[in-house]
Amino acid sequence: MRTTTRQSTPGRHRKITASPTQKGRIALVAVAAGTISFAGAGGAAAATLQTPDETPTSAESTVGDIELATSDTAFSSSSVELVPQILAIAEYKPVDNLDEQLIKAVEYNNERVEAERAARAPSVVKPTEGTFTSGYGVRWGSVHKGLDVANVVGTPILAAMGGTVIDSGPASGFGQWIRIQHDDGSIAVYGHMETLDVTVGEQVTAGQKIAGMGNRGFSTGSHLHFELYPAGSDAVDPAPWFAEHGITF
Ligand SMILES: [Zn+2]
Repeated sequence: MRTTTRQSTPGRHRKITASPTQKGRIALVAVAAGTISFAGAGGAAAATLQTPDETPTSAESTVGDIELATSDTAFSSSSVELVPQILAIAEYKPVDNLDEQLIKAVEYNNERVEAERAARAPSVVKPTEGTFTSGYGVRWGSVHKGLDVANVVGTPILAAMGGTVIDSGPASGFGQWIRIQHDDGSIAVYGHMETLDVTVGEQVTAGQKIAGMGNRGFSTGSHLHFELYPAGSDAVDPAPWFAEHGITF
């Protein structure tokens, strides 16, 4: 029906004086034009030619009309250049995709909230409370490969950093040990514990209780022996690593 209208001269739409109602309809059509991937200007230009009683009332029918318009070769590129202001609405997303868009928006928001929570959560925590009794280094003629913090048997021992439990059980010298491989590949060793709260393969988070302090193995009193292996193999003094995260003993 409107095909005859559209086949008039390309510049005709400039003569249309739009009422406020008409302007609203034209805006709707222009928005819909942005939803389809053809060079939208032709469709938008065609839309401005529609008389009010032909203006579609739903987005679906609007798209159908504009597809007709694009196949109409009567519109040259010169008519496109006459309506640059309509092209500004090209970022509109189709309404029939709304559910998917909402799901994506919610997912994005959840990811953002989780990222913020992770950023606020301490990545490294003090593994136990007590008296610092020995540091990393040569002691009694041999290298002491960790630091010792003493307290009563059963004092909670927490994972200093999140990761995967790769050992939890008896170990020579340690009596019992727990080894946790962190997500960055480094490994922490906890020794002499009286009780073990985690098993091999378990995922732990920083601050999670993993054991109760003890006096097992080569130990002269209840304490935690803690070692840190940044590359997984060679032990380093854990104290500077803790200090970097604001933790002192
Ligand atoms: Zn020790």
